[in-house]
Amino acid sequence: MIELLFLLLPVAMAYGWFMGRNSIKQNQQTAKQDLSIKYSTGLNYLLSNQQDKAIDSLLDALKVEDDSVEAHFAMANLFRKRGELDRALKVHEHLVRLNHLPTKDKQQAVFELGKDFLSAGLYDRAETMFTKLLKSKDYGVKSLSYLLKIFQSTKDWQHGIDRKKLIVKYKDKRLLHTLANFYCELATTAFEQDQFIEVIELLEQALLLDPNSCRANWLMAKIYESHQQCELAAKCYQAIYHQDNEFFPDVIDQMLACYTRLDALEEFYSFIKMVYDETASSGALICYLSYVEQKHGKKKALEFIVSALKRRPTIRGFEHFVNMQMTSTDGPVSNTGLDLIKELISEYLKIKHRYSCRTCGFNSQIHYWSCPSCHEWEQLKPIRGLEGE
Ligand SMILES: [Zn+2]
Repeated sequence: MIELLFLLLPVAMAYGWFMGRNSIKQNQQTAKQDLSIKYSTGLNYLLSNQQDKAIDSLLDALKVEDDSVEAHFAMANLFRKRGELDRALKVHEHLVRLNHLPTKDKQQAVFELGKDFLSAGLYDRAETMFTKLLKSKDYGVKSLSYLLKIFQSTKDWQHGIDRKKLIVKYKDKRLLHTLANFYCELATTAFEQDQFIEVIELLEQALLLDPNSCRANWLMAKIYESHQQCELAAKCYQAIYHQDNEFFPDVIDQMLACYTRLDALEEFYSFIKMVYDETASSGALICYLSYVEQKHGKKKALEFIVSALKRRPTIRGFEHFVNMQMTSTDGPVSNTGLDLIKELISEYLKIKHRYSCRTCGFNSQIHYWSCPSCHEWEQLKPIRGLEGE
């Protein structure tokens, strides 16, 4: 009998533990039920299109439970996406005011609030929010990036430059690239006022921040040329090729003018030949052909272009070839067929976009330093391929 009692003891203990656990569960259940009532009321309001009442009800639920913070961020972002900024603001402001939120959530709320203000065009208030987060581990770089966007919209280049120390500290390539372009903007203004030393200093700063800034070298070449320092300008053009060979075809004409003034055309054409060998660009090809023609005659030039087009056919190269044929003194070719082909190709090239944004795909006939569509800097480059460079 006693053995039976001993056998039952663990069973009794297990029962007690089970019952106790159930009562804790019950308390949690009541809190959860309370919360879920507030939530379902909120959702009902949302579904019946009474958004403001829904927000109040859902914000009320937030006072009870921290687990729902993520849901509130999601809700507010949804409002912002739908353009209902006042509602997004209301939720984010509420989150910022909650004292018991962990620092990370609080910072996220301040960051999102900044984005709300930015979407609403309230730059001053957005700037205040992002400035608060500059030293945050999670939001420092992102906030700086938004601040630079604000300064870009307001053309407040100096304000961006005031943040240089922090940007350099973060070593974020995109931020450095953007800031380099702020320096280029100031340099462009100084260039218009012909402040030689200031322009050079600003561009040197730009190149320190972003050694790949073609724009800085392009401007530097211009100011050197306008001050009769063609040798230095020539170095800048060469640097552009090494920085970004996709952008380079656009500076070939300016570079030719520069080397003509230097009386160093042999050096120029050997550089262009190297560019052509390395990139097969049609701009470099057409430029180099004029040298071949001057030096070795039209026949050699024609042979050169034929083999080049076989290697890499492009419409621009093809047009040049037709043009050479038509103006050939020793050749027979001047029939209406060729005229027509040339006309068609010229027309086609006229309507073709010359530049495309490497970031967002925006196409344009003219060049912009900052893409009109995505506002990224130095992303508009000559289109390559059959119809391009
Ligand atoms: Zn773009």
